Amino acid sequence: MKKTVVVTNYFLNTKMDEVKEKFRVIEAYKSDVLYKVLPEADAILGGRHHLSASDLDACENLKIIAQPTAGFDNIDIPSCTSHGIQVCNSPSLSMEVSDIALFHIINAMRKCTYTNELVKRNQWPDRSGTTPLGNEINHKKLFVIGYGNIGKLIAKKARVLGLDLYGYSRHFTQDDVQHGYTVHAIGLEEGLKIADIVVLALPLTKETHHLINAKTLALMKKSATIVNIARGGIIDTEALIEALQTGVISAASLDVIEGEPLASDAPAMMVDNLYLTPHIGSSTVQTRERMGDEAIDNLLCFFEGKALTHPVNTMK
Ligand code: NAP
Repeated sequence: MKKTVVVTNYFLNTKMDEVKEKFRVIEAYKSDVLYKVLPEADAILGGRHHLSASDLDACENLKIIAQPTAGFDNIDIPSCTSHGIQVCNSPSLSMEVSDIALFHIINAMRKCTYTNELVKRNQWPDRSGTTPLGNEINHKKLFVIGYGNIGKLIAKKARVLGLDLYGYSRHFTQDDVQHGYTVHAIGLEEGLKIADIVVLALPLTKETHHLINAKTLALMKKSATIVNIARGGIIDTEALIEALQTGVISAASLDVIEGEPLASDAPAMMVDNLYLTPHIGSSTVQTRERMGDEAIDNLLCFFEGKALTHPVNTMK
């Protein structure tokens, strides 16, 4: 009998034909449908769902979750391991996500989307004086929190903008000297104090949830900007809004935010110096195809008994 694969994302990939041929496929793009069909699933192909430990108790047959995403904060990984469920991710998107980080750095410093909104509202700024002025980027201090695949690329690309580079993650303790440039290893608090631009590029975990809060925001310069391309939950949004509205920091430019997608009346929508893109770090045709292929390859390899390319947890 064919195994059942519950598909929770829309896949652009031609490899989906092979999945449909080899498995019984149930499409469950909405959470209410997904939770109903969980007991039937041998595999989940997709990464839009949240699965808690109690959701996993309902998954009697589930053996693998193959996600076309790099982050896996939507799933309780230790519970998956104890339930004997293999989790795989698809991390080949660092290049594109680092592009979006660079966009947000420039956007916050030079007020690109803000002035775009003025133009669209027919308020073309008067260049003789009332144009909202941005800030110079050259020689400013960039602090990348989470010096991993994406963080390293952000530093590499940011160097071209003339930024002085600083990085922090738990195992990054010595300066990273590349061809012609250095990323200085620095502590979290010290980095927040000296940075002109802080970029978040680390996973959302219990430890990093609300890492940026009223206390850590207060360490930053009044002129500082924060960029988040990682996960919304790393920033306490309420504290960020307060900090932006009271001049604790200057601006925030975010690809991700808590509670996304935001309602039109969400408090963050009303803040002029908070700029948003709707979680588009990996949103290119090529990246989505590549990540879809990676997830499908992991699924096929798992059931064919072959080595997995991107396992997240180690099964006993
Ligand atoms: P990665 O290669 O695993 O790098 C993550 C970095 O974060 C590592 O250097 C890790 O180093 C550090 N880190 C982990 N926990 C930390 C902590 N508690 N304090 C400080 N640093 C910590 O991951 P990546 O591929 O660069 O992706 C990073 C995150 O970006 C993902 O987890 C995902 O949530 C997000 N993302 C967003 C998008 C988007 O569309 N906007 C797309 C892809 C990924 P140590 O272990 O040494 O601390």
